[in-house]
Parts: sequence; C-alpha cells; structure tokens
Amino acid sequence: MSRFLNERLSALEAYVPGEQPGDKKYIKLNTNESPYPPPQSVINAVGEKELAELRLYSDPECRVLRTALAEAYGVRRENVFLSNGSDEILNFAFMAYGGRGAVFPDITYGFYSVFAQLYGIQAETVPLKSDFTLDAGAFCGRNSLVVIANPNAPTGLTLSLVEIEKIVSSNPDGIVLIDEAYIDFGAESAYRLIGKYDNLLVVQTFSKSRSLAGARLGFAFADGRIINDLEKIKYSTNPYNINRLTQLAGVAALKEAEYFNKNCKKIAETRGYVKKELEKMNFSVTDSKANFLFAKCPVIGGRELYLRLKERGILIRHFEKERISDYSRITVGSRDEMEEFLRAVREIIGGRV
Ligand SMILES: *Cc1c(COP(=O)(O)O)cnc(C)c1O
Repeated sequence: MSRFLNERLSALEAYVPGEQPGDKKYIKLNTNESPYPPPQSVINAVGEKELAELRLYSDPECRVLRTALAEAYGVRRENVFLSNGSDEILNFAFMAYGGRGAVFPDITYGFYSVFAQLYGIQAETVPLKSDFTLDAGAFCGRNSLVVIANPNAPTGLTLSLVEIEKIVSSNPDGIVLIDEAYIDFGAESAYRLIGKYDNLLVVQTFSKSRSLAGARLGFAFADGRIINDLEKIKYSTNPYNINRLTQLAGVAALKEAEYFNKNCKKIAETRGYVKKELEKMNFSVTDSKANFLFAKCPVIGGRELYLRLKERGILIRHFEKERISDYSRITVGSRDEMEEFLRAVREIIGGRV
C-alpha cells in the first residue's frame, strides 16, 4: 500500500477470486465456469471482421443486445440494464442504494461485504439456519438494501418465488436485489415481478449457464426508474463498459437458447449423480440447484481435501470461514471430469470411512 491511498480504503479487504493458476493444467471445479464451450455461432460472431473494428468505441447504449435481451425475456427495453459482468451491477447497486444500510445472509457471495466496506455501508448479516436454509422472515420489513442470491452461493439452496415476493412486498422503501447468477440451473426467476414492484432488482449473468465468463456480460431487470439510476452511474464511471466483441457474443448467445438449456440439463443430471456418489461416501451434501455442490467430507477437513485434490490436479473451492470451513464448493464439470474427481476423492479418503 502506498502512503497516498485514501484512508477510507486502507482497511478494505478486497474480494479474492477463485484461483486461475497457470502452472499446469487442472480440472477446474473452483469457479463455477461452464465445462461446455460457447456454441460455434458465438465464436463466429467475434471473427476477423469485428476485430478490425476495434479501433471504434463500442455502442454505449448496447442497442442491439438490449433489444435482443428484452425480446428473449418478454420485457421492455427500458426495464433492461447491461453490464461488464453482473459484479458491476452489484457494485452500482451498493453505490446507489446502500444509503440506509444493507442486509444479506452471513453465508453468501463474498463480494457483498466487500462492496459494503468499499462504500462505507452499514451491513447487517443475518445468519442462515443450521441447515443453511434462509429464514425469509428475517429479511422482511427492513427497508434498507436487501441482497439475496437465489440460488444462494456457496450453498446452492433456493428460495421460492412466494418467499421472495414476501420479502419484496414487505420492503417498499428499500431495494431488494435478487442475484440470480445460477438461476438457469433449477430455480425460478423473480424477473416477472418487476412490473408489480418498483423496488425489485433482478440480476443475472452470461457467465455461468451461457459459457461466457470471460466475456464479462451481466444484465438486470427492474422498474425503468431503477434502470435509469444504474445508467446514471454507468455514464458517470465507464460508458463503454461492454466491449464490441462481448456485445456481439451476447446477441449470438441469445439465439442459442436450446444449446444452453441442454447444457443446463446435463449439468443438473451430473449434479444429481455426483451428489449421490458423495453421499455413498457419507459426505453431507446440500440440495443444490446451482452448477456446484456444497459438501462436507466425513473424515478430513475442508482445507485438507482441497490440498489433496490440488496435488492430484483438481481444483475445488475452500472457504476459510466460520461455519463452512469444512465444506467444499465443487463446480459441476463434465461427466468425465466428475468421474475423475470422484476417483480422486475415493483415493484420498480410502480406508477412512
Ligand atoms: C459468479 C457470480 C456472480 C458474478 O458473475 P459475473 O461473472 O460478474 O457476471 C454474481 N453473483 C454470484 C452469486 C456469483 O456466483
């Protein structure tokens, strides 16, 4: 840290992304990327011709992509916001709506508390129950910024639409942000409620179910006035937040719903299979509806399991955090990758169960 850094930032603990090591080839089950490549049409969309156009700025209004997204979801263009990854929307939302504090679960996406710190927002964390389910009632009547990931990360557990609506309707004077990064793997989106509530902000991403983590493309649905707030911040920070190649990739990806649905189905099937196999080895595994499993090994700690798998060329995510330090978050990869993962786990705990 230099002596010039703003005092407010000196104590900030930055978000630590899952490792992306370059030392050798790993089976990567640590950052919830898709095991499947983008379809050929997306690859073709960002070809030579567009690369030659890179001397020009991208369209700050993202007109083509925004229209395509509005059509794909059956909403109006003025209810759509596009961003450089959905993390950018979370950033903007904390910046815009954290004035009266923020509330989120104690165990959830680690970025929420970083944004709260970054903007000096009073953050209250509500403990999940002992089975990691979320007590919807504890998020009602808050009237501050309520942030809930559905499915939650890293537990994979979901809230029903009825519970979400209860939270939204009971917080008329606070924004309720539903982070739906994993929605396509088996939960129900709240985006259809945006016409009914002016305080609901639904955030999704192309990173997980659409195999475009590296393109950095997120989006949100909300009342037009919320979208205008987010636009205001965007035009005050980075108007060209979505580059030319990503805009084209996004448009092409929206035409491939069938391909992505098929991949999500495969991932859900593999998830069920791996869960069963882990349970045969006496792991505790939550009922995840995301593209990862959240599991506790019966014989060795979370850190040890992570290290022993890494030695074998397999990366999973370990959290050095109270309540969950013995749980592992394991991205659901391809069937072959998961067979290798299971083989390694059997080897590691062999003889100990
Ligand atoms: C991955 C993830 C995001 C961010 O994804 P982007 O790549 O920035 O779109 C947001 N929320 C949760 C809960 C996530 O797991």
